[in-house]
Amino acid sequence: MEPGFNYIDGQWRAPQSADTLPMIEPATGRTYDRIADSDARDVDVAVAAARTAFDTGAWGRMTATERGRVMSRFAALIERDAASLAAVEARDTGKPDSVARADITALARYFEFYGGAADKLHGETIPYLDGYMVAVVHEPYGVTGHILPWNYPAQMFGRTLAPSLAVGNAVVLKPAEDASASALQLAELATEAGFPPGAINVVTGRGAGAGAALASHPGVDFMSFTGSPQVGQIIQKLCADHFITCTLELGGKSPQIVFADADLDAAIPVIVKAIIQNSGQTCSAGSRLLVERSAYDAVVGRLAEAFAQVRVGAPAADRACGPIITAKQQARVQQFIDQARADGIPVLAQGRIDEDADPAGFYVAPTLFGPVPRDNDLARDEVFGPVLAVLPFDDEADALALANGTDYGLVAAIWTRDGARQLRLGRKVRAGQLFVNCYGAGAGIELPFGGTGKSGHGREKGFAAMHDFSITKTLVIHHG
Ligand code: NAD
Repeated sequence: MEPGFNYIDGQWRAPQSADTLPMIEPATGRTYDRIADSDARDVDVAVAAARTAFDTGAWGRMTATERGRVMSRFAALIERDAASLAAVEARDTGKPDSVARADITALARYFEFYGGAADKLHGETIPYLDGYMVAVVHEPYGVTGHILPWNYPAQMFGRTLAPSLAVGNAVVLKPAEDASASALQLAELATEAGFPPGAINVVTGRGAGAGAALASHPGVDFMSFTGSPQVGQIIQKLCADHFITCTLELGGKSPQIVFADADLDAAIPVIVKAIIQNSGQTCSAGSRLLVERSAYDAVVGRLAEAFAQVRVGAPAADRACGPIITAKQQARVQQFIDQARADGIPVLAQGRIDEDADPAGFYVAPTLFGPVPRDNDLARDEVFGPVLAVLPFDDEADALALANGTDYGLVAAIWTRDGARQLRLGRKVRAGQLFVNCYGAGAGIELPFGGTGKSGHGREKGFAAMHDFSITKTLVIHHG
């Protein structure tokens, strides 16, 4: 990797501007390298390279099967280099070592899955008028733009790039300025796997600079954005200005609904993991726990015990939680905790930060609050940190109203042994993914994932993503 360079057209390219941004280790607060703060001129070069790769270059000429083989080779190279990729990711994001390693496995799986799927995006024929043949085919857009957040940089490289590449698009990626390291390393590895120049381009920089330039670029045919609802709105407007569509994967305030008949032995560890995973910096974190009032004391008692066991530490300590990504996000999460305390909401339990954790690192103690008043910020706003809000409910109708009572709709879970209730609520709770007696936030590359409302629109993962990254064309042939 060439520090401060972009990866464009199969090679390291110096950015046009001399401006750079720091790469900071969340575990220590130290700057360890710098990335380019690219501008619109660099985005122009990257989009032109992608356009050529698609229109006249080797990528556009490959068959779907050949594309799939390149992607499968890439998956194998990711596994070959998994240890070094995981080390890069752990340093850049603060993830515990084993979590970073698991993220790399998931990344490889994306390229394995979509490599295999590349030549299986079948069309259909439709019976029409006498003397006509109608074929519906799925074609690539051309150049797709991708803007990613910092919470799962490597996994999301797979989640959004792999389905687009499988369909045949060439891609330009602007990773998050706070976590660009793995994307740069992966772009170079992709060349070794056989991706031709221009198929995958990575341009680093700030959102308002390189990011906005990408979303508004006339040479980009489709945008994929993952990040905050506020920036998602900006992206959608920029796309509208040049008549393209976008996928928006935004935030969440995902509820887990626990009824009195739930199997708590199964539920408690899953509920804890769903909020502390990646230090709560997961769009699909289970951040609201709705508990039937008659079971409230039993549930919070057991939950508090489990929560108090959670340890927080540096990547190498491999605790359940690592640090928060930046000092700014740490302050934001801590502000939620301080405000909830100031509002008089009881703290039921807190996890513990390792004594030897660097005091300059961005650590926050996981915190369990309850009962949280329904109109409190903690009950409605996304914290994006390891903070769980517990709210009691009275009956099924009340649980449904509470579950659907935010602007979000990403993921939800229902814990009950009552089969009819599972189905009733399963259909009525507003969420793109709904789990019953389990919670697999983010799991399952085969399973379509995405939101409604403020959580965004469009679907990633599974075959659904390949449909989103392609244009449906209807061919009507009159043969007489
Ligand atoms: P963010 O929206 O600030 O940044 C995301 C990306 O957008 C970054 O690459 C950033 O540089 C870019 N960006 C910022 N301003 C821009 C602009 N004006 N034009 C173009 N690009 C711009 O979000 P974040 O702080 O990186 O991530 C946290 C948020 O992302 C949370 O709300 C979280 O819920 C959400 N998120 C959602 C998912 C999902 O799959 N739904 C996944 C991860 C994170």
